Amino acid sequence: MSKTLFDKVWDTHVVRKIEGGPDVLFIDRHLIHEVTSPVAFLGLKSRGISVLYPDRTFATADHNTPTINQHLPVADPLSANQLDALESNSKEYGISYWGLGHQKNGIVHVVGPEYGITQPGATIVCGDSHTSTHGAFGAIAFGIGTSEVEMVLATQCIMQPKPKKMRINVNGKLGIGVTPKDVALFIISKLTTSGATGYFVEYAGDVFENMSMEGRMTVCNLSIEMGARGGMIAPDETTINYVKGREFSPKGEAWDRALAYYKTLKTDADAVFDKELTFDGSSIEPMITYGTNPGMGMGISHEIPDAAHVEGGAATYEKSLNYMGFHEGDSMLGKPVDFVFVGSCTNGRIEDFRAFTSLVKGKHKAENVTAWLVPGSHIVEAQIKEEGLLDILTEAGFALRQPGCSACLAMNDDKVPAGKYAVSTSNRNFEGRQGPGSRTMLASPLVAAAAAITGVVTDPRTLIEELV
Ligand code: SF4
Repeated sequence: MSKTLFDKVWDTHVVRKIEGGPDVLFIDRHLIHEVTSPVAFLGLKSRGISVLYPDRTFATADHNTPTINQHLPVADPLSANQLDALESNSKEYGISYWGLGHQKNGIVHVVGPEYGITQPGATIVCGDSHTSTHGAFGAIAFGIGTSEVEMVLATQCIMQPKPKKMRINVNGKLGIGVTPKDVALFIISKLTTSGATGYFVEYAGDVFENMSMEGRMTVCNLSIEMGARGGMIAPDETTINYVKGREFSPKGEAWDRALAYYKTLKTDADAVFDKELTFDGSSIEPMITYGTNPGMGMGISHEIPDAAHVEGGAATYEKSLNYMGFHEGDSMLGKPVDFVFVGSCTNGRIEDFRAFTSLVKGKHKAENVTAWLVPGSHIVEAQIKEEGLLDILTEAGFALRQPGCSACLAMNDDKVPAGKYAVSTSNRNFEGRQGPGSRTMLASPLVAAAAAITGVVTDPRTLIEELV
């Protein structure tokens, strides 16, 4: 029987089918961090249960970590407690722990792929919604809650109802200045934040085939923002070249066996999806959000739509625009920008810093802008230095911070003050996401760069044309 990529990976991992209930899935890799694991470990301890597969579990500190002076003790007591708990639990249960100061420390969804923990055809979970990132490798990867973290620690399995399947095709040539982030924000703007609820999405078409692994990770990362359980892309030569030789990737004969498995991981020609959508990649322009959910996005040259043209209640829409201080019919171009954040598991990889640097090269940061450039890991940080990007950034008036989730969420010191506007390459623009009262505009690293040097929302294509 013909199968989709999703079916193939899911069916390979079913340990038991419960009649009329969820499937019990084996989990190949469990990534943990300081926010959702402490309570799960307390649960294990209270029941006297150990971690079944410590060697399939990896811990990194990222959400609560500072992004400057990481050699000093963490000042915030709550953050310090959570980080201490992650360290002591990891040591007690024999789990690899990559804490602050460790060479492998970084954002969980950045370091997992970098070290080859993320592999095609695997099942991967983590107590963070954006675990969908790992689907870029043809893995089934999704975020789980604290009680599920405890379940996976104890059993290496999880009970999950099988989601429906959706395929999203994007074909055609992307225009100048259009990045994977724009493709993802475009899709979410079309589907809305609930358009893929109940589905697991496969991305297909030449736009994704021609994308780097970094770009594919950005797209899959944002799947959750349209309600999907996760997103995935069939592994190909690009994937295999990325995975081969990494520290935790299979080696020798194990690699040969893995490669044979990876090559089976594609949707059969006549496999059926519950829903299929197709978009023209050449119609996408650099995107920016204007509201308080990632579905409230538009091409940067457009005007904020009227409530009559958007889904959801007019009152909610008005509340959202009021929070942002915007109005129906406004152009986003020229809107003030106070902060620029480049980083997070969405856009904290080397390709994102290359894009940002390409646009700010030879220019200077706007006086009114505070810029936080935060690599997703020490590997990214090292690449930025080795490739000479740091010199260009320094010359343009920017500084680099240390790896961590940073301003993606208001759980560490990098908070945007109330009422201030941030152009952010992260993934959520909810009220208060970057700090109480903060106002977030989600965009690509190129749009962030254009804002950082002009001090207002600017179409990056105008600056690229200047360069050409
Ligand atoms: S960068 Fe943001 S979304 Fe990603 S792991 Fe950190 S907090 Fe979660």
